[in-house]
Amino acid sequence: MLKTAIVCLTQHWRIEDHPLLIDAGQLDRLLLVFPYDNPLIPDFPIEIRRKGSFRLKFIGECLRNFDHSLQSFNQQIWVASGTTIDVMSRLLREIPGSVAWLSDEPTWEKQLDCQHLTNLFGRIRIHTLDAGSMFQPESEVLNPTNCPEVFTSFRKSVEAQLQPKIPVQAPKALPPMPDNIPEGLFCWFEIPELNPQNTLLTESKSTFPWKGGETEAHKRLSYYFFESKSALQYKETRNGLLGSDFSTRFSPFLAHGALSPSIILKKLKEFESMEGANASTYWIYFELLWREYFRVIARKHGPALFYQKGIQNKNLELCHDALVFLQWCNGESGHPFIDACMTELKHTGWLSNRGRQVVASYLVHYKRIDWRWGAWWFEHLLIDYDPASNWGNWQYVAGIGQDPRGTRVFNPDRQAAMYDPDGRYQSLWLKNKR
Ligand code: FAD
Repeated sequence: MLKTAIVCLTQHWRIEDHPLLIDAGQLDRLLLVFPYDNPLIPDFPIEIRRKGSFRLKFIGECLRNFDHSLQSFNQQIWVASGTTIDVMSRLLREIPGSVAWLSDEPTWEKQLDCQHLTNLFGRIRIHTLDAGSMFQPESEVLNPTNCPEVFTSFRKSVEAQLQPKIPVQAPKALPPMPDNIPEGLFCWFEIPELNPQNTLLTESKSTFPWKGGETEAHKRLSYYFFESKSALQYKETRNGLLGSDFSTRFSPFLAHGALSPSIILKKLKEFESMEGANASTYWIYFELLWREYFRVIARKHGPALFYQKGIQNKNLELCHDALVFLQWCNGESGHPFIDACMTELKHTGWLSNRGRQVVASYLVHYKRIDWRWGAWWFEHLLIDYDPASNWGNWQYVAGIGQDPRGTRVFNPDRQAAMYDPDGRYQSLWLKNKR
């Protein structure tokens, strides 16, 4: 009997450095499936879905690009409506002798999916592989039981002990699709929410003007490193608010797996060997270590990443004043810097790291609103939403993560004076509202 590999791709829509494609590509037949669902956010003041329109558009663009690349392998990405468990268990039951591959993602929900499927079908039929980390997950420093809890200790251990993974080669060929495609699988463009043609989003002032997909990701890599050479000034510019080159803008590509961190590091090394390493080029690596850190923290603390008391199980006096919260969401808090940031986020699905820190701190420490509402709002809007980075950063700002300084409060007046001294950023986004 022919053996069929079913690869579950809720992200990692790329050809390069893709361990799942390489492993699953050893079987006779290959079915690439994206189980698509978009539930409402639970216990939230308004009815919104987890994936908002900015991210859906980006996902659609990633799928279009991935599907196009797969054509040269006589392959395609299929989409099925439903949760990962529903879609994968149905396919595993319908296709005799099939084996599934899932990406080993660090957050609780994804871990539960893998556990659940393994309980149903056994280890022989369910394989998991890491496709999104910078280091081999089995390294001792990354072992959730003994990994350092505080970022600086984590970074020092990683720098002393680990070498980043080397990207795996792109496959030369892939197995054909099964002869009979099961019912309920669709081409990506047949799902209306995923077809970018159906979105009416136009925001000319967005500082994230790129489309989703591996091709665009590589263009951005080349531009950022080799054409503009912006990486040479990254450390000085990374707290910027205006323009598109003050930071790398790799995060949406990473969050959806159009790029792997190993590919970024390979380019960074190439760039350093041509232009020389400096504090800025090191700092890009340093920031990518934050991403790794939050992945390890997510793996270690499981569901506590989403608890109000956080991974420290700390009591916070927080309230659920929907009016105050919605004013914050809509850029109507009355504080001009906060309102400018929140307007940019709502109109574009993008906000700088500085902006994210300040608005998150304002919601929790000035308005005392439950930080999880803020995290859900970010999840709905952000193009680069990544569960470990989003919920981990929110806990960090709320003072219930592992910040050795305890609670860090960003004074919005001081932040505006430091990072927007001439008010250009505020006038851009506040004007936009009128
Ligand atoms: P750069 O400054 O160019 O950094 C390079 C890369 O390093 C980024 O692409 C990212 O992968 C990583 N990185 C940088 N800063 C952080 C950080 N603080 N935590 C984790 N990784 C980091 N990032 C996400 O990718 N998805 C999220 O959902 C997300 N939510 C956030 C929520 C809050 C409240 C805060 C304060 C930060 C959040 N971040 C999140 C982290 C950070 O804001 C973004 O990664 C960064 O702004 C993306 O822009 P960039 O790619 O230009 O980053």
